[in-house]
Amino acid sequence: MSTLEEFTIEQSDRVLCVAAHPDDLEYGVSAAVAKWVEQGVDVTYLLLTTGEAGIQDKSPEETGPLRAQEQKRACAKVGVDDLRILDFSDGVLEYSTELRKKIVEVIRDVKPTVLVLTEWALEVPWGLNHADHRVAGLAAVDAVRDAGNKWLFTDLTDENGAQLDYWQVSTLLVSGSDRPTHQIEITGAPIEKGIESLREHRVYLENLGDHPDPSDLLRGMTELETDADEEQRYALAVRRFDL
Ligand SMILES: [Zn+2]
Repeated sequence: MSTLEEFTIEQSDRVLCVAAHPDDLEYGVSAAVAKWVEQGVDVTYLLLTTGEAGIQDKSPEETGPLRAQEQKRACAKVGVDDLRILDFSDGVLEYSTELRKKIVEVIRDVKPTVLVLTEWALEVPWGLNHADHRVAGLAAVDAVRDAGNKWLFTDLTDENGAQLDYWQVSTLLVSGSDRPTHQIEITGAPIEKGIESLREHRVYLENLGDHPDPSDLLRGMTELETDADEEQRYALAVRRFDL
């Protein structure tokens, strides 16, 4: 990967990462998250499903809680303690106003300045994108707009019954884009923590059978072009939108 302009997080930023399944954020995003957490930035993960249909040999009843546990351990590796998982159906996630509203509720509660999401295009650099990923990305983009509209979803309240105020996210970062504009360098501790976080999806990855080693995979996905005499460096590529 050639070097792009570095995206720099501010100490005052607050980050919300949205994805369809447990493990979706562990293909590079979690390494960037590890770096941000180390800088003192609060990060929340929002998963739209528990990925309960993700393991062929196990029932959804068994898989859902197992994958939620694996995600919790993955979060711990990169310092994320605010993990929220919604109960939409894995594999058949549908784009709906209800889905957007649930995402809006979390955006208005967390009040992120930066929202990280996964690519929603059908074609992605590694092939054809999963149906749930397409829905999750698109719904998250639309929910960002909804969250900033004071006339939408006015019945959303916090746990004390107070209305959740509208909230405008400032920056969108799309991971997995074929047209990245920025990078987040993750050389050193961040990529090591990112690899550990992917390894925590142990049962899920074992079941996939042919999944490459997390270290080889993540390094391969994020390695920057460097001179032969230079230490290898790594970066997560993202497409940035300022709102
Ligand atoms: Zn997924």
